[in-house]
Amino acid sequence: MSVVELEAKQPSSELKPYRSLDNAVLAERIRAVKARLGKQLLILGHHYQQDEVIALADLTGDSYQLSQMAAANTECRQIAFCGVHFMAETADMLVNRPERLAERNGLRVPVVLPDMAAGCSMADMAGIEQVENAWSELGEVIDTGDITPVTYINSAASLKAFCGRHGGIVCTSSNAAAVLKWAFARRSRVLFFPDQHLGRNTAFQMGVPLTQMPVWNPHAEELGGNTVEAIRDSKVLLWQGHCSVHAVFKPEHVDLFRNKYPGIKVLVHPECSREVVAMADVFGSTGKIIREVEAAPPGTKWVIGTELHLVNRLKKEHPEQEIHFLSPFVCMCATMYRIDLAHLCWSLENLEAGTPVNIVRVDDETTRWSLAALERMLDVK
Ligand code: SF4
Repeated sequence: MSVVELEAKQPSSELKPYRSLDNAVLAERIRAVKARLGKQLLILGHHYQQDEVIALADLTGDSYQLSQMAAANTECRQIAFCGVHFMAETADMLVNRPERLAERNGLRVPVVLPDMAAGCSMADMAGIEQVENAWSELGEVIDTGDITPVTYINSAASLKAFCGRHGGIVCTSSNAAAVLKWAFARRSRVLFFPDQHLGRNTAFQMGVPLTQMPVWNPHAEELGGNTVEAIRDSKVLLWQGHCSVHAVFKPEHVDLFRNKYPGIKVLVHPECSREVVAMADVFGSTGKIIREVEAAPPGTKWVIGTELHLVNRLKKEHPEQEIHFLSPFVCMCATMYRIDLAHLCWSLENLEAGTPVNIVRVDDETTRWSLAALERMLDVK
């Protein structure tokens, strides 16, 4: 579902009275709902959320970690996911997977996304119809039985299910290398969705030459804009998707900080371009970025290339270090930023009143195949 369609589902008239309240009042009302519902309610806050939301979350983390923690919680009966749409889908699939439903005598735990327009531009770049078309086009020039489709967790449930149906797998930014190794042990080629940068950075580090990583443009007339020879010679076919937040960081930003602050360490997320990752001292997942800063001695100077809210929070939590943001421009995840206290309060009060809004529910068939791809990932050591 596109962000525009999602937006249309949101009754702005109902939200209007909440929008006129200030954050202190909204926070008080949210705390009151939390106190009344107790452990039945679980609020999940993604690392990239604004501070006001994080302050009210029961658990914070990255997308897959939050879904796993929610699935391990046996007391909660309602979940509000302060993240983006694909994250709420993953939580719904893990929390309401068949064995967990059986343990709860069939009782579903609804997963609410406080603002249905909180999508992910990267996930939207790999629509399932485009993916199906690419697969059949590829089948005309190579054996698709010899391709493992791999999708980053930052993708729609329909794409995860596609991977599940075709013997493929899901990866996160922390296990992408292990997942690619798993894939190459089974088949000779990988089709990597939807983030070309994570795919390229990971495969390049594993020794796959850039010349064997053509990019598949879903808008191109034929073969994703590639020649038959390039497709036949490929090891990793990269879907042409990217994160608009991490695409902002450029090599000249790295030069700028290195010139201004000699000895500064550059720490970036693998969703950044190959050029930026190649210049960095360290690159890794959100979890790795946090751990690197936590483990560094006082006085360490960092410039960090990831979402602004997380970098600002690290700055606040580590005043003993000097932390800069790797861009002269403000760049934050605009869709995640849509989850504000007005939306959170509105959705929680409706949840409590028994008139839930914005429930994200993945159908059974999609869940089944997505879980197949997710479970293969869990088996990768
Ligand atoms: S930071 Fe990028 S990948 Fe993450 S939710 Fe926002 S747009 Fe999507």
